[in-house]
Amino acid sequence: MPIATIDPATGEVVKTFDALPAEQIDAAIGRSADAFRALRATPFGRRTGWMRAAADLLEAEQNELSALVTLEMGKTLTAARAEVVKCAKDCRFYAEHAEQFLADEPADSEAVGALRAYARYQPLGPVLAVMPWNFPLWQTIRFAAPALMAGNTGLLKHASNVPQTALYLGELFTRAGFPAGAFQTLLVGSDAVESVLSDPRVRAATLTGSEKAGRSVAAVAGRELKKTVLELGGSDPFVVLPSADIDRAAQVATTARTQNNGQSCIAAKRFIVHTEVYDEFVAKFVANMSALTVGDPMDDGTDVGPLATEQGRDDVEAQVADAVEQGASVLCGGRRGDGAGWWYLPTVIAGLTPEMRMYAEEVFGPVAGVYRAGSLDEAIELANATPYGLGASAWTSDAPESERLINDFEAGMVFVNGMVTSYPELPFGGVKNSGYGRELAAAGIREFCNLKAVWVGDSDSETSADSATE
Ligand code: NAP
Repeated sequence: MPIATIDPATGEVVKTFDALPAEQIDAAIGRSADAFRALRATPFGRRTGWMRAAADLLEAEQNELSALVTLEMGKTLTAARAEVVKCAKDCRFYAEHAEQFLADEPADSEAVGALRAYARYQPLGPVLAVMPWNFPLWQTIRFAAPALMAGNTGLLKHASNVPQTALYLGELFTRAGFPAGAFQTLLVGSDAVESVLSDPRVRAATLTGSEKAGRSVAAVAGRELKKTVLELGGSDPFVVLPSADIDRAAQVATTARTQNNGQSCIAAKRFIVHTEVYDEFVAKFVANMSALTVGDPMDDGTDVGPLATEQGRDDVEAQVADAVEQGASVLCGGRRGDGAGWWYLPTVIAGLTPEMRMYAEEVFGPVAGVYRAGSLDEAIELANATPYGLGASAWTSDAPESERLINDFEAGMVFVNGMVTSYPELPFGGVKNSGYGRELAAAGIREFCNLKAVWVGDSDSETSADSATE
């Protein structure tokens, strides 16, 4: 992929960039290692001040920044503004809670024959962050804020279609006061990832993106014995049962499928509806999807903008064509939008069967698959019938039914009577092919820490640690 800003609403190439040469990548890694030595020695109070300053900058620059994001990847300006606000909130969350999340954890010192015994969280060093374009600010900040508060440094390899957003992020934290080199952008293609991650100065990696990219980074990290966190794709189920409020479920289903122009890892993608309420739900859902305004993402009245890349639009089109050729029915949409740019209309498809690509693959665009389930058991079976396990949403007012779904969904996150979303206060991540590790909350800041066991004996006594066992 070229490193370039290309307006998805028009297909126009706005600005192109050259990839960083090898000697500049090497220098950036060196600065990151130097900044790590400086940052790890700073007290939490200083980092807190800098992180709050980063939040202030995001808020003050919200207008320009959100317009840049919309230009580069096509989400609506309203959504881009909300993303900036959410990033500032995450910075403030970790500014406030990092010290408490990383406080020493006391152990039973008597049981281990020590005067004092505890575990201490310490930063690992420079971490490579490979990030996607779909929430180009949020995906980066939800790694960067906890990582920097823990005392790690970051090297951002952002998606090639959001270079200007990447450059903004590469300056944000230094402008806020963090040591020079603490968080830098490397404008490089994915072909540079292997050599950066293999560099001994880089201690770990996080990747948010496709399963394919995740496997590739994990393979290099495995060879190099480096810690990774992987946030990969999803094909989240949205299960509607007879006791649900169907109007509300159909309304939220529409937002859950089309948020971010349908390009969210935690978008609901498969709508599994109990046969008793199937016709009612599907009629309302199709009416809502058909009523959405598709258009210029800069306009306030737009619900759905273009897909971010031409390839992304072509992939969605091919998945729908495959389903239709094998007998699925298009209930609304099912085609490109008109005009230049990479438009695809909000679409609902029924009659999906296991041979069709859409049954098990992630669809990264505003296309919903609806499935009829004869029972709760069948709904759960369908919900779990993909290689993914990111989020899951269930709609029911029956408490035992809700408990069963919470237990039996193969997912990292379950939302009952709400759409799957992320909060700084809740851990975020998946199981199965959706990846491993967690971001956000206390779990997120601890991922890139060395949990060091500490045993302190009395210098005057004969007591010593048991050396007979490992
Ligand atoms: P992508 O193609 O995997 O790209 C993501 C990042 O990985 C980009 O920076 C990309 O660089 C890089 N990359 C691609 N192939 C690579 C490789 N072989 N080795 C190293 N780096 C590589 O994903 P995308 O199409 O941009 O994003 C959509 C995917 O991300 C979807 O599957 C979505 O579900 C997933 N996602 C997951 C989460 C989550 O939290 N679980 C959140 C958002 C998105 P280039 O741009 O230079 O190719």
